[in-house]
Amino acid sequence: MDNVELYHYSNKVQKRDAFRCLEEFGKKIKWRNFDKVLDIGCGDGGVTTGILKKFIPDNFKHLVGCDISHRMVEFANRHYGDERTSFMVMDIEGQIPRDLRGAFDHTFSFYTLHWIVDQEAAFTNIYELLGPDGDCLLVFLGNTPLFDVFRILSRRPKWRPYLKDVERFVSPYHDSQDPEKEIRRMMAKIGFKNIDVQCKEMCFVYKTMDDVKKAVSAVNPFRMSAELEEEFLEDYIHIVRDMRLIDQVNNNVDEAVNIRNNYTLLVAFGTK
Ligand code: SAH
Repeated sequence: MDNVELYHYSNKVQKRDAFRCLEEFGKKIKWRNFDKVLDIGCGDGGVTTGILKKFIPDNFKHLVGCDISHRMVEFANRHYGDERTSFMVMDIEGQIPRDLRGAFDHTFSFYTLHWIVDQEAAFTNIYELLGPDGDCLLVFLGNTPLFDVFRILSRRPKWRPYLKDVERFVSPYHDSQDPEKEIRRMMAKIGFKNIDVQCKEMCFVYKTMDDVKKAVSAVNPFRMSAELEEEFLEDYIHIVRDMRLIDQVNNNVDEAVNIRNNYTLLVAFGTK
């Protein structure tokens, strides 16, 4: 999951969705003067600086990206750091530094919170990081065939040893009947106000098998050698075929296909 170079070039869907959600929910955010902004799970920093930053009024004070991965943070600082933009290592599920409590006017998170097992710990931390009247906009995955394919592969003897802890990497909302209600309830319990949670039906179409492989490889959380990963991705594609997620555009040409990824995106807004 921390192959930063690969992620950098294979995150089209993440970028598209961050932009759409900011366009749709951006009006809820109460920008003030000299705002301090946090992006949780910033990854390579591309979304933080290339998309989120464009929505932040120019007189902001500081934009901080945080990520659990040292490699991501190092890459982001090297490519996108400047006098008002910096990146730091922080686990949103763990203990947050005391001096960051109440330090931010706005917190954002894109395509990260579905990796978190202890949702309440992460959401409580997000609440703690906000100052009075601060707000948060959190975007993460609900249901996606990606997780079903991981589960199917985990049952195969060949992959079982590598995918032992598969459930740790399946979104906590993948099997939920009513994720909006679940998240709303959790946020209310923590103390969030003005809560708005929406579960959105999304679709992304990949044009080649290679694009699918790169996208899966960029977020593959399972440790294996590069050679083995190539076989893993081949098996992944076979299952995608079995699940009939592929529309053949031209029968004989493997390159001319539409590979549909229908998934749900959860968007949660709240204020302190
Ligand atoms: N927001 C970026 C990156 C999303 S990829 C984008 O939209 O492109 C998800 C990122 O979450 C990865 O960089 C991963 O290292 C990070 N992450 C996973 N668990 C985390 C945790 N507990 N705390 C902080 N970051 C985490």
